[in-house]
Amino acid sequence: MKTISVLGATGSIGTQTLQVIHTFQEKFRIVALSAGNNMALLAEQIRQFQPPQVCVSTPEKAAELEFFLHGHSLPQLLIGEEGLSELAQDSASTCVVVGLSGFKGLVPTLKALEAGKQVLTANKETFVTAGHLIRPFLDQIIPLDSEHSAIFQCLQGCGRPKTEIHKLTLTASGGPFLNLPLNQLGSVTVAQALQHPNWSMGNKVTIDSATMMNKGLERIEATVLFQVNLDQVDIVVHPQSIVHSAVSFCDGSMLAQLGLPDMRTPIQYGLTYPERWSGNLHLDLAACSRLDFMTPEPERFPCLALAEEAARQGGSMTVVLNAADEVAVEAFIQGQISFTEIPKMIEHALSRHEKISNPNLQEIIDLDQTTRQQSLLLAR
Ligand code: MG
Repeated sequence: MKTISVLGATGSIGTQTLQVIHTFQEKFRIVALSAGNNMALLAEQIRQFQPPQVCVSTPEKAAELEFFLHGHSLPQLLIGEEGLSELAQDSASTCVVVGLSGFKGLVPTLKALEAGKQVLTANKETFVTAGHLIRPFLDQIIPLDSEHSAIFQCLQGCGRPKTEIHKLTLTASGGPFLNLPLNQLGSVTVAQALQHPNWSMGNKVTIDSATMMNKGLERIEATVLFQVNLDQVDIVVHPQSIVHSAVSFCDGSMLAQLGLPDMRTPIQYGLTYPERWSGNLHLDLAACSRLDFMTPEPERFPCLALAEEAARQGGSMTVVLNAADEVAVEAFIQGQISFTEIPKMIEHALSRHEKISNPNLQEIIDLDQTTRQQSLLLAR
């Protein structure tokens, strides 16, 4: 039986991971859960999966959790960022699922890797901000992000050395504003931006999909995970989200992975890897009828160029890119800035930063903090 910790258990990745685990209860055991906000749902998950260890964000949340548990016995309780790192490295799990969104996923991910655990992660910020610190642990990592899972699956399937990779192609849905007249982008609402055409995801990644910063971050993630350079990672818009990504090999062959746009497929693959177990999410190609592919328009998606520029400069630039994006997206959701001000805020943060070439973990954490503070001032 595989023992699993789920970090970010009440979020989009966490809840879907628990759904998959529930269908294979005799094969998996949950030994730890963490959640930041939704204590009612965490209490439900504790009743269902009986984990011996749980981590919540604050003492207030711990009290709230106890309330929702209505006398059900409380698992061993850890609190805050330190608690989360402790849970990532110490719990009885052999496998840690990282469903945390944003920069806060970095330290627990590193702790789990250093403790020798297998890490299934959808936290692209880890790869974007600290790729050079993650690289030594690549053989412990299974990507859950649908695009990277697709590439991982294509590479497993052929078992060929990486030198045979010509290019990786990441597909992007294009988000809700793919066909909106450009002059209307400045006045789109938060509700419109949160209406993703195909995928059901958390708020941060949904807004990032609308600006396509998500794809810019995923491109950087791909260079770390698959050890290719930036020029070997292409992005194509594919509005149907059926082809999840593809690998072109040096001889001209291309392998792609297809499936329904449902995160439970890459999550289940990550959990059962290297095996494949039965599921019920089957794709009917005839029902798809058509699959379209096109080059993304640079004027519509300026975040793609920002991510590329930060990645080319390297070092600490991608830490700034990520922090400024997290603040800008939150400011947009809070109604403080418009949709088209998101890339402007990120560009401003990048332009005033002086690059550090090989930032260590503490430098990355400090830089993330200062970039947030400076960007916040700008948002007000
Ligand atoms: Mg993705």
